[in-house]
Amino acid sequence: MAGAASPAPCVFCQIARNSTSTPLLHSDGKVVAFQDIKPAAFRHYLVIPVDHIPTVRDLQRKEDDYSLVSHMLSVGQALLQRDAPHKQYRFGFHQPPLNSVDHLHLHCLALPYIPTWKCIKYTSLGPFGGFIEAEKLLQRIKPLSPISS
Ligand SMILES: [Zn+2]
Ligand SMILES: [Zn+2]
Repeated sequence: MAGAASPAPCVFCQIARNSTSTPLLHSDGKVVAFQDIKPAAFRHYLVIPVDHIPTVRDLQRKEDDYSLVSHMLSVGQALLQRDAPHKQYRFGFHQPPLNSVDHLHLHCLALPYIPTWKCIKYTSLGPFGGFIEAEKLLQRIKPLSPISS
C-alpha cells in the first residue's frame, strides 16, 4: 500500500539496521558505532544499542543492562584507541531532557573539544548537570549481588 502511514521511525534505529548512508565504524549483534553528525571534539563517536532503549532512565540495575553498557563502553574505547591514540577520552550519556535523540547513545570523545566551549555539554559539572559519565552510570546499574540462578 503506497504511503501507508507509520510512525516516524527513530533515526538511530535506522542507522542500527544500516538502512542509512551513515558509515558504521563498528557493528555487532548488540551495538553499532558511528561518527556524531556534529562532532564536538577531535574524535566524537556514538555507540548505540541495536535495540531501541529510549534513555538512561530506562536502564535498570540488572545484568542485561549492565553488560550492554559495559559492551558499549568497550567498543567506544577500542575505536578511540585505534583512531585517536594517546588522547584524553570522555565517555558518557546525556540525561533527559538534554538528550537530543530518544535512543540511548554513548558519546565517545577524544579531546580536545572543538570548539572549546562545547565541553560544558559533556561534563557532569557543567551548568546543565545533564551528562553522566559512563563509569558512573555503570556504578548505578551494577547488579548488587552476583547472579544466582
Ligand atoms: Zn531507536
Ligand atoms: Zn547525546
